[in-house]
Amino acid sequence: MAQQILRSWGRVLAAPADVVDMPAAAAPFPALPAGSSSLLPFGKGRSYGDSCLNPGGALLRTKNLDHFISFDKDTGILVCEAGVQLADILRVIVPQGWFLPVTPGTRFVTVGGAIANDVHGKNHHRNGAFGCHVRRFELLRSNNERLICSAEENADWFSATIGGIGLTGLITWVELQMQPISGPWMDVETLHFSSLDEFGKLTAESDSRFEYVVAWLDCSDAVGRGIFFRANHSAETEQYKKPLCLSLPVVPPVSFVNNLSIKLFNTLYNKKSDGSSRAHYEPFFYPLDGVGNWNRIYGPKGFYQYQCVIPARHGLAPIQEMLAAVSKNGMSSFLSVLKGFGSKPSPGMMSFPCEGVTLALDFANTGASVQRLFAALDEIVAGVDGRLYPAKDGRMSGALFRAGYPVLEKFSTFVDPAFSSGFWRRVMEGK
Ligand SMILES: Cc1cc2nc3c(=O)[nH]c(=O)nc-3n(C[C@H](O)[C@H](O)[C@H](O)COP(=O)(O)OP(=O)(O)OC[C@H]3O[C@@H](n4cnc5c(N)ncnc54)[C@H](O)[C@@H]3O)c2cc1C
Repeated sequence: MAQQILRSWGRVLAAPADVVDMPAAAAPFPALPAGSSSLLPFGKGRSYGDSCLNPGGALLRTKNLDHFISFDKDTGILVCEAGVQLADILRVIVPQGWFLPVTPGTRFVTVGGAIANDVHGKNHHRNGAFGCHVRRFELLRSNNERLICSAEENADWFSATIGGIGLTGLITWVELQMQPISGPWMDVETLHFSSLDEFGKLTAESDSRFEYVVAWLDCSDAVGRGIFFRANHSAETEQYKKPLCLSLPVVPPVSFVNNLSIKLFNTLYNKKSDGSSRAHYEPFFYPLDGVGNWNRIYGPKGFYQYQCVIPARHGLAPIQEMLAAVSKNGMSSFLSVLKGFGSKPSPGMMSFPCEGVTLALDFANTGASVQRLFAALDEIVAGVDGRLYPAKDGRMSGALFRAGYPVLEKFSTFVDPAFSSGFWRRVMEGK
């Protein structure tokens, strides 16, 4: 066991922690290292803020829980250990005609991490969140109790653990339902929109015809223009040639991301032409995975992602207000994603998505100026009973968290007494 400084994906927060590797799924729960007050499961650290960090405590890494247990190619039911990455699952199942029912924008996350944040993808309007496709899992508690959890068995633990940000215990293995596909290709349509109203109309007409829908928003001003992508799995069956993967080898001394480079990026990206195309699933679902360590472009101070959901009854007006606030504060977001969430409920009691629209904005960590902007954005989100996504958060107040997740008191009763995180202490102890 070693003390290590670990960073999460945004690279703003660095926490010294004792790192304990869970030796095997069947092993007993490890003892707390001397001097550590708590433990937190750790997958691939692809969460942006402090929900995957535990300063002053220990991290329980799941890298050894990387075994496949079974895959039934007739039913698409997969059983694997919780440290298996989505990338590994895709490598096994796609050639056999199956795909993940829900995937986030990176495939380098573990199954345990995907459940703990109840991740969502571009098909939320059809398939809901990841938790909707979890059939069962085993939860190992710090008292060495092992609970098999499903909608029928230990249903309350099932519900608390899906979206339970790693606090209810360690998920050791999971049983998931995959979805059938013909091959690795996607039929994609690309359409420019020049206002949020147009985005709303495109979403309304696309949700019933397209499995995957997402928009890139040009945040260089407050207009609300962008590019809309909608896609279905293609009937094309040919297997594929591996795309080139680049990597940023070092952290540059200063951020490459500033208002000028964002303007240039947006101008170039806006030139993308409208039309239909066939794309391999990797660049379609995981464009950022094509550049290893892309998070380093923000330099040594790192960056924040601000992701909120605005309930459907408020329409798109709050999003327009948020764009105006970004512009008024003289800031710009490098990558801005807008997407509608559907009404399919998740079994997870703390799940982030709700019917409405989600906006994700990336900002370099510029200190006080970006914090001022976040305060303005928080006010808009709180004013419409919206909420922020813990997987992306490293700074929301306890008050905003409590307002966004009214089920918190009930959830707290499921938190394992030996488990905690930087995020949990911050929002539960802070104002
Ligand atoms: C480029 C990029 C794109 C992304 N796109 C999306 C997106 O489209 N949608 C979305 O929802 N998210 C998205 N995310 C966020 C990411 O999917 C989540 O943060 C995910 O949970 C990270 O998984 P991980 O394995 O890295 O877990 P970590 O970040 O290491 O941990 C995440 C949480 O899971 C808990 N955990 C991990 N393993 C276990 C286990 N075995 N048992 C119990 N708890 C466990 C941890 O304690 C922690 O609370 C994106 C992230 C990146 C970097």
